[in-house]
Amino acid sequence: MMKVLLAQPRGFCAGVIRAIDIVDRALDKVGAPVFVRHEIVHNRHVVETLRAKGAVFVEELSDVPDGAVTVFSAHGVAREVEKAAAARGLPVIDATCPLVTKVHVQGRKYVRRGRVLVLIGHAGHPEVVGTLGQIEGEVHLVGTPEEVAALPVAEDAPVSYITQTTLAVDDTRAIIAALRARFADVTGPDTADICYATQNRQAAVRDLCAQADLLLVVGSSKSSNSRRLREIGEEMGKPSYLLDDGSELDPAWLDGVRTVGLTAGASAPEELVQSVIAAIAALHPVTVETLDGIEETLQFRLPPALDRLPSRNRAAA
Ligand code: SF4
Repeated sequence: MMKVLLAQPRGFCAGVIRAIDIVDRALDKVGAPVFVRHEIVHNRHVVETLRAKGAVFVEELSDVPDGAVTVFSAHGVAREVEKAAAARGLPVIDATCPLVTKVHVQGRKYVRRGRVLVLIGHAGHPEVVGTLGQIEGEVHLVGTPEEVAALPVAEDAPVSYITQTTLAVDDTRAIIAALRARFADVTGPDTADICYATQNRQAAVRDLCAQADLLLVVGSSKSSNSRRLREIGEEMGKPSYLLDDGSELDPAWLDGVRTVGLTAGASAPEELVQSVIAAIAALHPVTVETLDGIEETLQFRLPPALDRLPSRNRAAA
């Protein structure tokens, strides 16, 4: 009998639930199409489900027709994008996760105080692009301790940092330590900008890997927090794979395995976790257990702009 151990917590976080809910409610209210700038969250299944309901995903605002209801993704957008949408009078619903917005606010505060701002994050990730574009003035992006060493900033300059929300906690600590070692005056939020969901899922995957022979992470390859979960499994010496759903399970991964550790990134729906369990069960008899872990209760309020959308039902009445 093969055992499947499920991480707790795993899967959807409050920011992802809110973002998907925003697109769903906008579609209910105004009908299709609703335009979404960038994938609402980095999960193919979520995107396809919303697309089937009438969401249209575009990369650039210029691809949104005049007057169309437009949703900004959970990752956030640069000020330029907000301004361009406002200039065109587009009805915008901002699904930026409130924890990403909090980082923007914090970054602006540091710059206002005249501090040199460092953003710890992965170049090119949409959240990082958005955060860089939300803060007026220079922001230095670093992704490694080596990049801290190369920063063109004087050692006695007042330095503050903010971080991407979905980083690996340990890697971020190392970068913060490098900042503190190089600069005399460094302030920042410890690793607190890494959001609660990322931290909880990373802690849970460590517990999981202590008991499992193999780690499977349900999530898309674009999903930063999912990729970090897989890396933790690898660091802990377990064969670790990222898969979109049960159809991507390679039976060879299960050779010689008695306990499969299974988790999901913050943008992966639980039904995909269940599809992986079903795929394993189709090959081997399984028992399924969930590890003890934190029960998350955080919920975010929906943006008031949703209420201001014209209702198609009212229009028809
Ligand atoms: Fe928000 Fe964290 Fe979820 Fe990203 S992973 S949407 S920051 S709660």
